[in-house]
Amino acid sequence: MSATVLSGRELAAAIRAGAAAQAAELAEAGTPPKLAVVVATADESSAWYVRSIAGAAEKAGIACDIVDLGTGASPDDIRHRLAALSADESVHGVILQTPLPDGAKLEDLASAIAFEKDVDGANPLSLGRLASGLPAFAPATAEAVVAILDHHGVELTGRHVAVVGRSTVVGKPAAHLLLNRNATVTVCHSRTGDLAAVTSAADVVVAAVGRAGLITAEHVRAGAVVVDVGTNPTEDGGLVGDVDAASVTGKAGALTPVPGGVGPVTTALLLRHTVEAASAALDR
Ligand code: NAP
Repeated sequence: MSATVLSGRELAAAIRAGAAAQAAELAEAGTPPKLAVVVATADESSAWYVRSIAGAAEKAGIACDIVDLGTGASPDDIRHRLAALSADESVHGVILQTPLPDGAKLEDLASAIAFEKDVDGANPLSLGRLASGLPAFAPATAEAVVAILDHHGVELTGRHVAVVGRSTVVGKPAAHLLLNRNATVTVCHSRTGDLAAVTSAADVVVAAVGRAGLITAEHVRAGAVVVDVGTNPTEDGGLVGDVDAASVTGKAGALTPVPGGVGPVTTALLLRHTVEAASAALDR
């Protein structure tokens, strides 16, 4: 039997519709929501991702400025622009797109994004608050993992979740969000001794690595739920996840597809966060 496909498309559409309705109300109230995406890379897949955010924002009635600083931007250039956007009252959400130029580190530069405009949870303050169970915008991808599981009715309380990947943008915040939901969480990484032994003991496996097909049937317990965060470009211009779907589908109980799983939910959540930030600005 094949694993149930846990699509993210319907959930993403519902989140986008909610964001669009709230954006219209905010515009009516004199606070049209605006997102700024700071870019300092010529990376193709990054450009595609930024265009997809801008397109989705436009459709939802959210203005989206792509601030392209060019590949020659220094860490100071980026920091100053993030600070300026943070001080700009017409801007409600600020994202720093990766990859960054050599010598620039996301965790360092993102401290220049005002906490209340940090709609992709990149400022270390946001991750610290998340870890402390305090309100903060979570990185949209990490939140999308939990949102897609909730949407499909996957219970988290008391379940063992293995998160593969410990980046500050996906693995670590996903682990904190899952802990906040009372899951028992194991975080794996490149130095984990026997990955398959850990992941195959879990009820839910979240793969956030960036290696096509890393997770195979031997990594998954029969009937487990598998969330594939990976987005690995293929030579023919397509996209594959970190999970070898052909191998895993005969063993797992459910699996998120790539594309069409975590990705669309991530983009939709960025829009939701932006209107929430605009709404909070209106209330201040
Ligand atoms: P990253 O910063 O490169 O982190 C990758 C993590 O995977 C690291 O913690 C690394 O361990 C671990 N790892 C590498 N090789 C491993 C192995 N053989 N076994 C176990 N763990 C291993 O990547 P990221 O930014 O978190 O992104 C992860 C994936 O998610 C990528 O495919 C990315 O494109 C995708 N992504 C998707 C979305 C979306 O919206 N769908 C958004 C963001 C990212 P160490 O810490 O030990 O190096």
